[in-house]
Order: sequence, then structure tokens, then C-alpha cells
Amino acid sequence: MALIVQKYGGTSVGSVERMLSVARRVAKYKAQGHQIVVVVSAMSGETNRLLALAKNIQDSPDPRELDVVLSTGEQVTIGLVAMALMQVGLKAKSYTGAQVKILTDNAFTKARILSIEEQNVRLDLANDYVVVVAGFQGVDENGNITTLGRGGSDTTGVALAAALGADECQIYTDVDGVYTTDPRIVPEARRLKTITFEEMLEMASLGSKVLQIRSVEFAGKYKVRLRVLSSFQDEGEGTLITFEEDKDMEQAIISGIAFNRDEAKITVRGVPDRPGIAYQIIGPVSDANIDVDIIIQNVSTDGTTDFSFTVHRNEFSKAMEILKNKVQKHIGAADVVGDDKTAKVSVVGVGMRSHVGIASKMFRTLAEEGINIQMISTSEIKISVVIDEKYLELAVRVLHKAFDLDQERI
Ligand code: ADP
Ligand code: ASP
Ligand code: MG
Repeated sequence: MALIVQKYGGTSVGSVERMLSVARRVAKYKAQGHQIVVVVSAMSGETNRLLALAKNIQDSPDPRELDVVLSTGEQVTIGLVAMALMQVGLKAKSYTGAQVKILTDNAFTKARILSIEEQNVRLDLANDYVVVVAGFQGVDENGNITTLGRGGSDTTGVALAAALGADECQIYTDVDGVYTTDPRIVPEARRLKTITFEEMLEMASLGSKVLQIRSVEFAGKYKVRLRVLSSFQDEGEGTLITFEEDKDMEQAIISGIAFNRDEAKITVRGVPDRPGIAYQIIGPVSDANIDVDIIIQNVSTDGTTDFSFTVHRNEFSKAMEILKNKVQKHIGAADVVGDDKTAKVSVVGVGMRSHVGIASKMFRTLAEEGINIQMISTSEIKISVVIDEKYLELAVRVLHKAFDLDQERI
């Protein structure tokens, strides 16, 4: 007998038929004697619909009230899925995040889970219930409803699995595992049987939305056995996130390609080259709670230099405004220019550690297609480049081919 947490995403509970199909899968696991906790997202499209409603009233909706609105999507699905489970003959009980008590900090719309009171869930499981928990939401210490950021139901699933000491956390979605890249962009992408935790962390943080990054962080911290599977297939082992590199297997140099369309680039030109400048530029931006990603400072020639960095596209105009109004004059920079039509493409693989020439192969491949590289950033197991957004899909496709990711691994 095992304790399994199964998380179902929006498409997997997108209709009454899909919810009944979830219930039938759970019934199969119950028949084998397992204890099952089900974590669900809102029905597909619902969170976007709620967000649009809010934005029709306030351009930037009040964060506390926005979370009150956004969390309702998942409240609908827990009740319906519990009913579907009863319909197939199981005992079921639903809980919102606050009812479980998934305690979070108070950072509305991007709250972090602090603790989970899992005793009631355990008791229900012992009494043969299937427990259905709303993903993506929690409650802060003052009783305010919070949400965990887009894709946050993954994190609820893994965090619950950690709190319960579950044997496995299964993430059911609309693809049958983690692929070498998004199969919607590259049809030749292949499913990976396993991916290391470190690689998955990079892939998620670099834009592969198949798992929310915080869910991968949780899995790493609490060593949760994590698997991504399709809710549309009855068979299939999906992709297992592993914590050890398989020494016996010939390690692929590159495991996957991630990309992110939401990157916007800003350059402060003609910055005096003296101590404290980087701080004077980035300080006000981060004080405004804007996340900065890749940062590049050029070597100075005539005592001045250019300073470039990227931010999320949604925060581009806010960042530009800060730099133009508060920073430029103050530090005596010549100009502030920006481009919000850029994208980031990254190749990821632990095999990079033991191979040279990956960067040069990546750059050559892009050059052969006439794709200009605007920024570069590297770590031990990834290389990212910022390019014009209009070349994004082409870049992903040619890199996928150049690194033989469409070939079966031996
Ligand atoms: P859910 O609603 O189930 O949480 P998501 O839409 O959040 O599903 O995540 C699944 C989607 O992630 C897939 O449909 C796929 O388009 C996308 N995706 C991006 N990168 C990858 C990848 N490397 N492997 C698999 N899917 C990926
Ligand atoms: N419903 C939320 C979203 O659309 C959370 C999730 O699906 O994981 O982002
Ligand atoms: Mg998701």
C-alpha cells in the first residue's frame, strides 16, 4: 500500500467527462489498496477568465482582492471532483487551501507555502476517504486567502506530498511527460524517461511551464519522488525526476531546450564607469520589486560603458520609467533604450560539465540561421541567449536538431 498524491492540471479537469475520467483513475488506484490525495487546478481557461474580469475593473487589480477572486476557480473543481469520485463509488471529501490549512506568507499572487497542517487529511485517508485539495491557494496568518503564482497547483501537490511523506507525487497533465523541449513548438521533441532534479530546476526556471519552479524546489528539498504523466492515457511511465545522475548511462550532453517569450531588454547607455554604478542602476529597479534576470556590463573604453539587463515583459514599462525619471539624470547616463520584443532560449544538460564546445556549437547554429545574439548567460549546466522574439521558434527548432535531441538516446 502506498500513499500517492495525484495532481491534475486545468485541461485534465476541463470538463465533466474529464473529471469522471480522473475519478475512474483514482478508483483503479484505490482498488489496488493505495491511499490517494487529489490536488486539482481550476478548469482550463478559468483562471484567465477570472483575471480578465478583475482587469476589466482595475488596471492593476488590488492583490488581496485578486487572490479572493482567482482562488474560486479551484474551489469549483474540488467540489465537482469530489462528486465525481462519489459517483464512481468512492468516499471523498474536498478541502480548500485554507480548510486544510496550507499556511503561506502574505505575498498576494505569489505567496510561498510556510507549513501545512496535514493531520485532518491523514485522518480522512485512514478512514478510506479520497481527499481532494484545491491547488494554487493558501491562507496567511491573518486568515487572508492567498495564491501561489501561475502554475501553483504543481507546488501544492509536491508540498502536500512532502508534508504527508507520500511515496510518490504524480503530476497529471496534457502531455505524457517532460520532453526535450515544448512539443507544441517542436513536434520531433521526445519524452525523457528521466531527468535529473538539477536539469528540471533549470528547465522550469528558464521557461518550461510543465512544472512550476517552486514545485521542483520542494521536491529537491524534501526528496519527493516526482513523476510527470498524461491524464489522457491509461498506460505510460511518464518522466521521473531523479536525484542521482545515472552513471551507467551514456549521459546526453544536452537534455533539453527551454525558452521564455516574456523577456524584455533594457540598456542604459553612456554610463560613467565608476564604483557603485551597477548598484545605482539596479537598486531602484529591485526596490520597485521588479525581478532582474540577465545583466551585462560592457568593458569601458572612454570612461563610460553600457549597462544592459532583462526584466519580465509585464514590468518593462515600469522599469523604463524608473530608469528614465529617477536614474538617468542622477548618474549622468547618456540614454536609456529598451526592447520588449526579445526572448530567451536556453540549452540545459548536466552532460555539459564534462564536454567543451557546447557554447560554440550553439552560437554557430544560430549564426547559420542569421539569428543575432543580443545577450549571453551561462552556468555549469546551461547556456542562455537573448534574441529577437521573432526568431524564437526557429532558434528552438534548429538547436533541437543540432544537438540531436530528435534522435533516440542509446
Ligand atoms: P497543466 O494545466 O496540466 O498544469 P501546463 O499547461 O501548465 O499544464 O503544462 C503543460 C504544458 O507544458 C504542455 O502542454 C506543454 O505545451 C508545455 N511544455 C513546455 N515545455 C515542456 C517540456 N519540456 N515538456 C513537456 N511539456 C512542456
Ligand atoms: N489555476 C492556476 C493557473 O492557471 C494554477 C494552476 O493551474 O496550477 O495558473
Ligand atoms: Mg501547470
